[in-house]
Amino acid sequence: MMMLRLLHFRMTTGWLLFLAAASTAAFSPSAHAWSNHALGTWQALASADEVANAAPVRVEGLDAFLAAEGPALERLLDAEESWARSNVPHYPARPAALAFKADGSAPEMRRRFIAALRINPASRLTLFMQVRPGTAVPASAAMPRSEVTTVGQRDDHNKAAFLRLHEGDLVTPLDVTATASDEPDFGLDIGIWADNGTGYGRQYGFGKQPFGNPALEFSSQAPMHMGFFHEQWIVYKAAPFLLRTYPEYRIHLYQTLARHALRSGHPYWGWRFAGWALHYVQDLTQPYHARVVPGVGTATLLWTNSLALLGMTTQKEHAITLVSNRHQALENYQVRRMRDAYARKDDKDALLLAARDATDDKRYPRYTDAAVRASITQQSHAAADATDAALERGIPPKYISDPDYVMTASGSDVDLYALVSAGPQAARDEMTTLVAGLMKNFGIHSRLFIRALAEGAQAGAN
Ligand SMILES: [Zn+2]
Repeated sequence: MMMLRLLHFRMTTGWLLFLAAASTAAFSPSAHAWSNHALGTWQALASADEVANAAPVRVEGLDAFLAAEGPALERLLDAEESWARSNVPHYPARPAALAFKADGSAPEMRRRFIAALRINPASRLTLFMQVRPGTAVPASAAMPRSEVTTVGQRDDHNKAAFLRLHEGDLVTPLDVTATASDEPDFGLDIGIWADNGTGYGRQYGFGKQPFGNPALEFSSQAPMHMGFFHEQWIVYKAAPFLLRTYPEYRIHLYQTLARHALRSGHPYWGWRFAGWALHYVQDLTQPYHARVVPGVGTATLLWTNSLALLGMTTQKEHAITLVSNRHQALENYQVRRMRDAYARKDDKDALLLAARDATDDKRYPRYTDAAVRASITQQSHAAADATDAALERGIPPKYISDPDYVMTASGSDVDLYALVSAGPQAARDEMTTLVAGLMKNFGIHSRLFIRALAEGAQAGAN
């Protein structure tokens, strides 16, 4: 009862600001859900025959794909918009003017396709492949980062190397899908909201950025890459903008394009769109992407906010710094450990083994649209408190429990994997258990998603 009265009283901008700030913190500029998705995808799908054993495919440019499938894509994207309007809660409808029309020159078709998907028009969408750490790329074949992503060098967690592809090259579906599973973090969802100061953001019809700082370039992608579907009802009541997260829209859109491309004889784009969809599925396996403030109960949030309203803002600021530091600490450890294992060609590393571990796949039902809420985020949200607590035991306190330390600014300078590895055995075990557990879920949901997609792609023509 006390809580309910408090709730009523606290539906104020202070409470809103706290949650908004916490959501921003949880997605600070250098943080992705998983800093390099491909490192996990290569492992996860190595044990999915649908991809791992699929024959190599010929690389095809986007313009060729659009020229061949234009009229079919008109119908497909119209049907997809209807689906989204009926099935995605709080869906911001696509303005009619953005509907895809298959006429005009190749650049015009491309422009219309990008507008119909409502992605950043500067998205590179070039032909490239990410290579595994430890694999040398000859300088003549290397693809500069700027031709792959619109996101600048601040993305220092992701020291990936890219190979330039050409139309007609043969590539494996595994490499195409793994590479594409990073691509939504390469600027596709940046600047798409009405208040991001971009012309396209004003046209796309998504409305104002639900949370985060609209002036911070990278925070604008967060509402597409997070899914706050399991907060307590009072949290939504107090902060309704948290209902506006749309990974389900992105997943279904790219899954639909992938199926169509696979069915219609464009396997390169089939696997590439599949990788795009997979990115959002994988993001949602990260507990800090499925819960607003892991480790902090609703009552504490309310109390913290009450203090802030009385002018005592320190506790609030500390809470925001800590959730941001922990989010990044988890990724810092994960990406460094996995990159290190690839570089040493150690495929027995616990994280790589966990991502490949398919023994529990059969315990889950086949992937359906409902799985995003009922299974994937249900699991990651439920794991959020334990994840937060495990980080407290596994990572030196300076990086996750000291509110005066801000990892946002300096996280790239810290190698938490090296630090933990040089520390006590108990902390090493804690981190291995924690991150291997999360990587196992990452692998399971990646395979379930790809399996359902591949089955759907075989089930007859459009
Ligand atoms: Zn993401």
